[in-house]
Amino acid sequence: MSASPITGVGVGRGAVVGPVARAHPVPRVPADAPSPADPAAAADGVTAVFAEVADTLQSRAEAATGTLSEVLSATALMARDAALSGQAAAKVREGMAPSLAVAQVAGQFIEMFTAAGGYMAERATDLASVRDRVIARLEGLPEPGVPALSRPSVVVAEDLSPADTAVLDLANVLGIVIEKGGPTSHTAIIAGQLGLPCVVRATEAAGLKDGDVVAVDAAHGTVIVDPDEDVRAAVEARRAALAELATDTGDGATSDSHGVQLLANIGTAEDAERLTDAAVQGVGLFRTEVLFLDAQTAPTEDDQAAVYARALSALGGRKVVIRTLDAGADKPLAFVTQPGEENPALGVRGYRLVRAAPELLTTQLAAIARAQATTGGTPWVMAPMIATVSEAADFADAARAAGIATVGVMVEVPAIALRARDVLAEVDFVSIGTNDLAQYTMATDRLRGELVDLLDMWQPALLDLVSATAEAGVELGKPVGVCGESAADPVMALVLTGVGVTSLSMSPAAVPGVRFALRAHTLARCQEMAAAARAARTAPEARAAALALVDAHVRAVLALD
Ligand code: PEP
Ligand code: MG
Repeated sequence: MSASPITGVGVGRGAVVGPVARAHPVPRVPADAPSPADPAAAADGVTAVFAEVADTLQSRAEAATGTLSEVLSATALMARDAALSGQAAAKVREGMAPSLAVAQVAGQFIEMFTAAGGYMAERATDLASVRDRVIARLEGLPEPGVPALSRPSVVVAEDLSPADTAVLDLANVLGIVIEKGGPTSHTAIIAGQLGLPCVVRATEAAGLKDGDVVAVDAAHGTVIVDPDEDVRAAVEARRAALAELATDTGDGATSDSHGVQLLANIGTAEDAERLTDAAVQGVGLFRTEVLFLDAQTAPTEDDQAAVYARALSALGGRKVVIRTLDAGADKPLAFVTQPGEENPALGVRGYRLVRAAPELLTTQLAAIARAQATTGGTPWVMAPMIATVSEAADFADAARAAGIATVGVMVEVPAIALRARDVLAEVDFVSIGTNDLAQYTMATDRLRGELVDLLDMWQPALLDLVSATAEAGVELGKPVGVCGESAADPVMALVLTGVGVTSLSMSPAAVPGVRFALRAHTLARCQEMAAAARAARTAPEARAAALALVDAHVRAVLALD
C-alpha cells in the first residue's frame, strides 16, 4: 500500500500519475544586504529592471490567449506601476540595497491589497510575482517559477502566479499541486478551465522533490507519493471514463427526459467567446462587475453595450442571463466604494447601490437594451442581493422600462427565499446564488476558509431555503435556477433537480460531470435523493443520504465516495 496521502482541496474531478517538476523557489532577500556604492545608478537600475520584467510579461501576454493573456497583461501593468518602481527607486537613492527596497515597497502594497480582501487580496499573488521576478533579476538568479519541462510532469509549487501558470508548457503538464492558494485562486481557476487535475492548499507537498512520482486525485483532493499498482489502475480508469463523458454534448436531462438546462458562469466577453463551440445551453450568470474591477471610473453605456453585444453574439441564440453590477464586499469597485462600512457584506452592496448611485443601474440597463437591439439577442437580466419584494418589484419596473423582456432577481438573502412566492409574482424568474445564500443563512463570511464547514452547501437550513424557492417556482410555473458553486457538485445537482430547480449554471469544465450524473437518474430518483437529504439533521448526513441513492457507476466514474 502507498503511504498516507497528502491532502488538500481538489479542483475538478480528474486524476493523473506523473513525475514531480518543482517550480524554482522565490529568491530570498538577505536582511543585511549592503548599501549600493552608487545609489543614483542603482536606483536607475531598479527602474530599468521593473521595465524589463513588465516587457517580458507583456510579450508573454501577447503570445497567450483568453484569460491567460488577460492576467499576464494585468501583472505586466502592475510591474509598470510608477508608484511601485518609483517608491523602490527612491529608497535605493537614499542608500537602501535594491532587493531590500523592492521587497519592502512591494510588501507594503501586498499588505494593502490583502487588507482590502476579496478580489484585491487574490491580486496580491500577482504583485508578489512581480516582486520576485524583479528581485531575481537584481540578484542574478534564475527567474522564479516553473522550469522548462522535458517530459510530462506534475508541476508542484508553493504557489503559482498567473504569469507562471500562463507560461506552462501545457503539452507537458499533467496536473498541478499547490502548497498554498485556495479554490478561487487564479491557479485553481485556470487549472479548472484547462481541465487539469489540481490540488491546492496541499501544505505537505513542500516535501516533494523533483522526480518523485505522484498520483494527483482532484476529486478527493489527495496526492499519493509513489503510488502502487492499484492506485495507478484507478487513475487510469478515471481518466478513460472522464474522456468518455466529454463526448456527450446533448442538453441536460434526467434518464426519463426531464430537462434541466446546463449553463455556464462567465465574467468577461472573452469567456463568452470561449463558449461559442462549447456544449452548454447558454450562460446562467454573467458576473458583469468582473469587467470593471480595475476601473477607476464608472463604465460608460457605450463601453458596456459593446461588451454585452460581444457576449450575446458569441452565444448565438442561446440563453444569456446578465446580472447587474454586484459591487461591494468581496467585489469592491473603486467608483462605488462605500467608505467606512464596518460590515461591507451587510452594507450598501449589490442592488442596494441603487440608493447611492442610481445612475449606475440606469446606464447598465440602457447598455443591455442597446446590445439587445444591435444583436437581436434577448438577454435575461437579474439583480443581485435583493432582500425585499419591493426591491424585486422596483428592479423589474426599471428593467422592463428599459426594454428588457425577461427580468429576474437572485435569491441570496434568506428573506427572499422565505418569500419566494411573492417575489416570483413580480418577476419572470429567479436564480439562487448559493454562495451568498450560505453566507447569509449561516452568518459566516464566505471568505473565511477556516469556517468552511458552516458554509457547506449541504447544511440542512440551506437545503430548506433552496427547496422553498424551487417549490414556489414549480407552483407558479416560473424558472428557478442555481448559479452558485453548489450547481457544479454532481450529487447536489441531482438533489437540486429533485427539488424542482430548472437550470444549473457552473464553470464550463464542470458541465460534463453534471450532465452525466443527470442522465443516469430519473426525476423520481432525484426527488427521493432530495427527500433523503432534507430529512437529515447535519450537512455530512445530508450528503451521505443523497449519495447512497446515486447510481454505483456514476459514483465510481466521478469518484464521489
Ligand atoms: C452566489 O452568491 O452564489 C453567486 C452566484 O454570486 P457571486 O458568487 O458572484 O456572489
Ligand atoms: Mg452572490
